[in-house]
Amino acid sequence: MLFKILGTAAGGGFPQWNCACAGCNAARDGSVRRRLHACAALSATGEIWTLINAPPDIAAQIEQSQELTPGPGLRETRLRGVILTDAEMDHTIGLLVLREQSNLQIYATECVRKTLHDAFPIDGLLRNYASMTWSTIRCDQSFNIENGAISITPFIAGQKRPRYVEAIGEASSEWVIGLAIRDNDSGRSVLYAPAVEAWSSTLASVLEGSTIAFIDGTFWTEDEMSKLGIAKRTATECGHVPLSGTAGLIECVSSLKKRPPVHLVHINNTNPLLMQNHQCPLPKGISLASDGMLIEV
Ligand SMILES: [Zn+2]
Repeated sequence: MLFKILGTAAGGGFPQWNCACAGCNAARDGSVRRRLHACAALSATGEIWTLINAPPDIAAQIEQSQELTPGPGLRETRLRGVILTDAEMDHTIGLLVLREQSNLQIYATECVRKTLHDAFPIDGLLRNYASMTWSTIRCDQSFNIENGAISITPFIAGQKRPRYVEAIGEASSEWVIGLAIRDNDSGRSVLYAPAVEAWSSTLASVLEGSTIAFIDGTFWTEDEMSKLGIAKRTATECGHVPLSGTAGLIECVSSLKKRPPVHLVHINNTNPLLMQNHQCPLPKGISLASDGMLIEV
């Protein structure tokens, strides 16, 4: 299986268009690398590809990836589907961008599917542009893609609803999922979870069984945004467990007896890890993912 990281930034990207924080300015002046929104693509053989999430800059991500270059037909793409890990705007707006492509298979949990039908009616808006086929996926129930070459098991990663449905969305345990993605030929697997609300025994066991992992690196500290005066919301209120601290993701991951190489994705532009000469210690085996990284699993 091929697994490609197309982008690694949290909502807003890096730099964010209206932000003049030190990090965004450093990305603008080229002293640190720019990052597109978090997104990944997977493929059994490189022949056809499935995206994980559809961020606003998906077209630019596809243009930057030779694996996804269109052709040889005039309007031919290798892209076949999109698996959504939640209904957040920065993971779904790209479906509107992909409207030129018909026959995309979209995989989403029931509450995400319903939200993209009612509150943010992407499927209705696209009806006259593209034929998208929707499949409902469930936590702990594996589904296959590419004729069974790859099997994917969603697991609960959080229950935070997108802000646009905070008042109207129904309670569900399947608002935010992570994915255990297994190549059925090699038996190896990738964990992809760009939003982790809290450490859990489920996450621990999926991590222990993975060959490589890409997990939530959104915030370094709980109060990062309020300290910068950007927003009052804490990391937890945004649906992300911070990386640092005693209950932080790094300590939890480090406590595992057996862990795969862990790469952080979905990094917010406020996260000091993005700065050069940052003072945020990352233990061996945990590192920042980079846009464009391609691995063979
Ligand atoms: Zn910024």
